[in-house]
Amino acid sequence: METVSCALCGSAAFSAALTGKDRDWGSGDVFTIVKCDGCGLAFVNPRPDKNELGKYYPAENWSRARNRVPESDAIISGAPWTAAAAERAGAIIRLGRKGRILDVGCGDGFLLLYLARAGWDCYGVEPGGVAAAYAREVLSLKVSTGMFEKGAYPAGFFSVVNFHHVFEHLSDPAGALEEVSRLLDKDGCLVISVPNFDSFDRRLFGNKWVGLKLPQHLFHYTRHTLGAFLEKAGFEVREVGYRSYEAADTMYYSESVRHCLQDLGLYPLKQEPSGGEPGPAAPAAEKKPLWKASAHFAERLFFKSVGFAADRLGLGSGMTVVARKHGH
Ligand SMILES: [Zn+2]
Repeated sequence: METVSCALCGSAAFSAALTGKDRDWGSGDVFTIVKCDGCGLAFVNPRPDKNELGKYYPAENWSRARNRVPESDAIISGAPWTAAAAERAGAIIRLGRKGRILDVGCGDGFLLLYLARAGWDCYGVEPGGVAAAYAREVLSLKVSTGMFEKGAYPAGFFSVVNFHHVFEHLSDPAGALEEVSRLLDKDGCLVISVPNFDSFDRRLFGNKWVGLKLPQHLFHYTRHTLGAFLEKAGFEVREVGYRSYEAADTMYYSESVRHCLQDLGLYPLKQEPSGGEPGPAAPAAEKKPLWKASAHFAERLFFKSVGFAADRLGLGSGMTVVARKHGH
């Protein structure tokens, strides 16, 4: 474990904000999120160092990629992949200019596939080898296996760089922004989607909130702290949107409720690591009894209403920030 100072303002003074456990990999390890006394940035501290982090990113769990599910059968968040991809692509499409995009941590590549069909020149980088190979070999995308490294592409090569629920995993966000700034052309835009640490559900669920994902999520951003990071790196925030659910799913609220039930011993612990989603080649689930289906329907309806209201108040579970380089 390593103790770090604030990545935003450099202060070494911070106060514990929240303590939570690793819920995904079964280690039960406990981590503390601190808030910087200087600027309010929330981050895991102490945090696993580079060598220890691998323990919390074990076997790849991209079942869709592992099973080589054909594009026509791909389901994301309970809906055909095009619905989820269209939602994720919303902020990018609204930029109104088609060009060359880099999707950092592109997973199995469905956002890029959607954008490629819409006329974008698409590039991706993904550390998960199985997912990256699927994107290349099944979806025919230009995706390389690896981390977001400096110098992998020429300066000014991209019109958009996208981080969809990836930026909060990076141990050096300032370094990443510096590289993004180099990669973007003069009108280039950066799009970042992260869990919202200021969200209604984070306040409601505390250390059971699904957005914590400890310790994979090293930083826990708010509109204010992410905005400050971007300003400091020479970006200007153009748009902020909030979203508490994706496609047919209401994953964020429902998963947090499961965490509460798990802590009370009323719900089984996850057997499989999260992250990937079962494709049709996975064993078919048993047909749900009617009471269970009705309960799930009511749960979805309720949380979708709460999420809809929270999104409009800037308290949504997730936020997407669009930023441009200063001076344009
Ligand atoms: Zn600070």
